[in-house]
Amino acid sequence: MKQRDVIVVGAGISGLLTALALSKEGKSVLVLERESEIGGMCRSYMVEGYQVDTGPHIITRLEHGPLKELMHRYFDVIPNFIPHGRYYVRLNNRVRAFPWNLKGWFTFDLIPQMDRLYLMKTLFSISYIFNSGEDLSRRSVGELVGNGLSESTLRFLNCISYFMTGTSMDETPVARFLDSEHYKSRSNGVLDKLYNILMKEGALDQVYPKGGLQSLITAILSSMPKNKIEIKTNEQVLRIHSEEKRIETTKDEYEYSTLIYSGFASDLPKLTENLSSNYKQSLRKLPRTNALTIWLGLNEHIFGREGSEIWVDSDPYTWVVPVSNYDPSLAPRGKQLVGFAFRLPNNFNLEREKKKALNAIFEIMPHIENKVEMIHYQTLIPEKAAWTITTEFADVRSPLDGIYLVGTDTEKRSMGITRASYSVLKLLGALREDGIL
Ligand SMILES: Cc1cc2nc3c(=O)[nH]c(=O)nc-3n(C[C@H](O)[C@H](O)[C@H](O)COP(=O)(O)OP(=O)(O)OC[C@H]3O[C@@H](n4cnc5c(N)ncnc54)[C@H](O)[C@@H]3O)c2cc1C
Repeated sequence: MKQRDVIVVGAGISGLLTALALSKEGKSVLVLERESEIGGMCRSYMVEGYQVDTGPHIITRLEHGPLKELMHRYFDVIPNFIPHGRYYVRLNNRVRAFPWNLKGWFTFDLIPQMDRLYLMKTLFSISYIFNSGEDLSRRSVGELVGNGLSESTLRFLNCISYFMTGTSMDETPVARFLDSEHYKSRSNGVLDKLYNILMKEGALDQVYPKGGLQSLITAILSSMPKNKIEIKTNEQVLRIHSEEKRIETTKDEYEYSTLIYSGFASDLPKLTENLSSNYKQSLRKLPRTNALTIWLGLNEHIFGREGSEIWVDSDPYTWVVPVSNYDPSLAPRGKQLVGFAFRLPNNFNLEREKKKALNAIFEIMPHIENKVEMIHYQTLIPEKAAWTITTEFADVRSPLDGIYLVGTDTEKRSMGITRASYSVLKLLGALREDGIL
């Protein structure tokens, strides 16, 4: 058995960033991935001449966030990023830019004026609640705003909550909204935060990687020192024998001194014994939500706005990202590639949901139906744990000697790739503290 310093289970973005960082820190790393492709929820592939991603993706917090830090420390090749542009909201058949600041709220006439005044008042109070010491990860947006708002305003808030956490506003913690880069400031001063809320334009550091998500994976792979990392695909880890520090896969077995697991933390009890019932119980509390993406290849350029659209009007709510606007090479010449993302309900019937979602698109935009030349569906899980008011995220340290966790269920800050990157930084910190790095 060939000995490596570290074995990483899973070659999604969390596993790959971890493997890159550890190899650059001098460790020899083996990555085991059960699928034939690497990248997990973060990759791209071709469908009828269009290059689709695993769901529409916009990367947040690029300027000051954790991915930037990891790129700075460990990447030899940096992808090109294109600014996302604005978020547009479609509500009651009209479209306006998302109101990030006071001026935006004054002109955001998609919801009644009384509701806007009420929400602006809530925004003011938020900056004070910040400093109140209350645990806002246990208070829901629904509870904060109460019931006195119009139906369309509640739909708007609910839609934004689903968009940010995958759960309704009654389950979305207020802390998730405050965690947004928009409400952050370098200092902790109330005035600073108030300034951000009142004046600052949001989403300015959000980007799409030119060349699609695959360019991010390619940049990570190209930065890996060749003699330090081996990645094996089509090899699933089936069993972890923690007492003997040995794993069994579909093809082989390996000994480890440090094992980093980037699959679902909630699946860990299926792989190993010796976990306490309390720990297993806490892992069961990690809620997953499923997402449906419909990619449409259009034989004409229809979506002209710079940015993406949030359709509150549609049932189900829809996030629309015309990715070929960022990089025309993702679609054949003169054509357009658009991703439509939907949250799937619990216990869904996939065929019924696919039909419903496609109808929702054509109800909002009937004129695109005869422009569609490619339809591609994806059912994926965006994050290993949705951040709700009851979610207890897992720690990067497991209770078992030498086993660590990484990924979107070990960190609550932000979302998606940014959250995965925070988790990798947290893991590296823990490995350093434990003397492994
Ligand atoms: C529709 C959709 C839209 C999204 N939008 C955005 C967005 O706009 N912005 C954003 O930042 N993020 C977005 N995301 C989320 C982002 O893609 C994910 O959060 C991120 O890619 C998760 O990375 P990960 O490495 O933690 O997990 P994963 O990608 O799930 O990787 C885990 C890997 O481990 C492997 N694995 C698991 N168990 C085993 C085992 N026993 N043996 C071997 N291999 C194993 C899996 O096959 C997988 O490859 C979106 C995702 C989806 C699906």
